[in-house]
Formats: sequence, C-alpha cells, structure tokens
Amino acid sequence: IASQAAEKRGWHLYLVGGAVRDLLLAEGQTGTLMINDIDLVVDGFHQAADVGAGVELAKVLQEVYQNARLEIHGAFQTAALLWHKHPELNSLWVDIATSRTEFYPYPAANPEVEASSIRQDLYRRDFTINAMALRLTSPRSGELLDFFGGLLDLQAKEIRVLHPNSFIEDPTRIYRGVRFAVRFGFAIEQRTKEYINYAINSGVYDRTTQENVKTPALQTRLKTELKHIVEAPYWQSALQLLDDLGALQCIHPTLKLDIYILRELRLLEKLIIIYLRSCEKQQILHPFLHPWQMRLELLIAHLEPQYRTKVAKNLQLADDSINRLKKLAEMQTEVISLLPSCELPSQIVHLLKKYDAPTLMLVALKSPRQVRRKIWYYLTNLANVQPLLNGNDLKQLGYKPSPIFKQILDDLLTATLDGTIKDESEAREFLA
Ligand code: ATP
Repeated sequence: IASQAAEKRGWHLYLVGGAVRDLLLAEGQTGTLMINDIDLVVDGFHQAADVGAGVELAKVLQEVYQNARLEIHGAFQTAALLWHKHPELNSLWVDIATSRTEFYPYPAANPEVEASSIRQDLYRRDFTINAMALRLTSPRSGELLDFFGGLLDLQAKEIRVLHPNSFIEDPTRIYRGVRFAVRFGFAIEQRTKEYINYAINSGVYDRTTQENVKTPALQTRLKTELKHIVEAPYWQSALQLLDDLGALQCIHPTLKLDIYILRELRLLEKLIIIYLRSCEKQQILHPFLHPWQMRLELLIAHLEPQYRTKVAKNLQLADDSINRLKKLAEMQTEVISLLPSCELPSQIVHLLKKYDAPTLMLVALKSPRQVRRKIWYYLTNLANVQPLLNGNDLKQLGYKPSPIFKQILDDLLTATLDGTIKDESEAREFLA
C-alpha cells in the first residue's frame, strides 16, 4: 500500500536497516521470521513540499489500518505507526522517514541522483550489515542497494563500521556493535576494533562520566543500549566483549570485569531464580524485580561507594535503584555487623524486614558466606511468615482494636517464627 502510494506520487520507497539484514540472514533458513520493527525511507522528491512525504505515506497507511496509532516527529519529518496488539505479532512498529537530503528540482528518475540520496541516508548508519536497502517501488522493485559491502560482511560474519569517525560521532555504536556481534555470533572486524580502541582512548566516554557534564540525549541512548545488552539472553558474553574492548569505561573508568564480579553475577542469576521459585511456591507476589536492573545494579555496586550514586543517575536508572545504590554501603555495614549475632529466626526477621528483596540480594552477594546464608534463609523461608492468628481472630476472641493489638500480633509472630507455638490452638493458649 505504501509503495503504491509512493509510486503514484513519483517517490521511491525503501525498506532499510535491521529488517533487510534479518531478511537476508533468514534466506535459506527454515522457520518463520518475525519482524516487529519496519524502517522505511522515502525519497526522490522534486518539490520542497515533499519533505513531509513520510508523514503523508503514514497517513495513507492509517486510513487502511485504522487500529494503528500514528505518531509524527515533526523536526525530522518521520512518522511512526504503532500496533500495540497486532493480530499476529505482539506489537508492530513501522517508521517512515523522509530522506533528509535536499530535494532535487527535477524528477529524480535520474538513477545517479536517486542513488546519492539513499546512499547518504545509508552512510549515516552504524554498520555495513545495517546499511542496506531493499527498493519497494518500481522500476527495479525488489533490488538490493548495498553500497558498502553489507552482504559480503553478512556472509563473512563480520561487523564492520562505515567510517573511521563513526564511534567518535556516536559512542553508543560501540555497544550496538557488541550487541550485534554476540547476538549473531559475528566477529568485530579488525579495523573496526581499532576505531573503537581509538575512540575510547581519545576519551569519547568522558562526556558521559565526567562531573557536571550534561549530555542527556547521549546518556539516554547509552542506557537504552546497555539495557538491551543486560536483558538479552547473551548478556554474559556481551559484557565480556565490552570489557575486552575497554568499553565498560562508559559506565565508569574504573569498572573492569574481574573474577569477583563475574562470580557475583553468576550467583545473582541463581539467587533470582531460586527466589522467584520460592515466591511462586508460597503463592506470594514477588516485589518488582527485573533481572536486567539487578545485573546493572550489581555492576555499579562493584564500584567504590563514592561513585555509585552518580553513575546510577548518569545511567538514568529508576529511583529505587539509585536509592538502593546510595544506601548500599551503609546497609551492608549494618547487616554484616549485626546479622551474625542474630540466632533466633525472629531476630533475623526483626533486623532484615526493613529491606526489600533486591537490596538484600545485593547485600548478600557482597557479604561473607555466613551472612549470605542467613539473608538467604530469611528471603526464602522467613520473610513471608504470618502470625498464626490475625487481627480478625483477635476481635473474635474479644480483643478490642487498640494500640496493644499490634504488640500482640508482633508477639504472636515472634512465637510463630521461633517455633514456640506451632498451631492455632497453641496460639490461643499463648494468648490466654
Ligand atoms: P534490532 O533487531 O536489534 O532492533 P535494528 O538494526 O533494527 O536491530 P534499531 O535500533 O531498530 O536496530 O535501528 C534501526 C536502524 O537504524 C539500524 O539498522 C541502523 O541502520 C540505524 N541505527 C540505529 N541506531 C544507530 C546509531 N546509533 N548510529 C547509526 N545508525 C543507527
């Protein structure tokens, strides 16, 4: 529909970026390829008014697909159509960008002019494998436009950047390169590695880690890329590759993946799984716990305490993460000094109940084994124990609601936790 509408207006429409790469990668493979994100570029204009071409095509599509939401990003003349509940895919995005090249004051049927416009658009992209276009309009519809050797790089399984300054222009591309390399099992091409190295050594990340330097747009994009990495199934290999390239410096210049942090990260995975299972078994809702967020917090917790809050804010983590990291050192000191002397379950509960599960996991990972075990026992066995009688039972037993109510319930909980009372009848005796 979009390409017919473009043809009618004398424009050219291309499928670009990740969808072209994924289609080429899927060639000859069995199974279904799901593409949730479709990037289109329209160009070939002959009048200034055509700069809104992307928006116009998106509106044509929306007339046909009325259940799609239309978003227009004026400054860049791009339009996005979004299906939140697409019948076959969970969600579907179609972005239509108007090629930002100036219009040509004559019909752009001239292939050289046309090629130079889409070529420039593709040249602004990150890697050769992401810089190919598939023409959707005739003549020559279905033709692959591959100016930079993307297809050869796909075949050779290599991530190659388009120009030497690419990483200086946009350091998030280092993260993207790592993500694509690990996700597809590709190697980062040797020159590209050298450019990454050069960019990092020339202080490209200083912009994001220095005090008082505000580059929120870059930080937002870095956070998005980092989140993609730490939430992907291949996060361990990706972090390792980032570290090998020296790119973890983007989080903080002192951050390195040493054997301790690697061990903690592995242990964290186990703890999260066991914890979530134990919540399920006890049929309790676990507190909001995103494994990717925990992984990032653990990386930041590996830094000296004085850097943690600033790094968490730079990465625009959620307020609960920032607060946790801010108070972590203090909480850890308290737990490590007081928990060893807590022998009774009620004493453990009394000390730990003011902390949420993610906090306790971070503290546990950074504590000696004996402390870790007690925290663990608390999280999986004690945290959700309820007194054997509740407020309603007390009322039925003739107690009037009063401040002493809470004290009685606390005493009942202590007795329940420590095994002094084992069932309801013992609880009633206990009250008497
Ligand atoms: P994925 O399958 O992970 O979504 P993708 O290639 O579609 O991969 P997007 O982030 O959706 O990734 O980006 C779409 C396209 O936009 C990319 O293929 C690339 O051509 C271009 N692009 C995205 N980010 C950058 C960047 N930082 N620098 C240059 N080009 C970029």
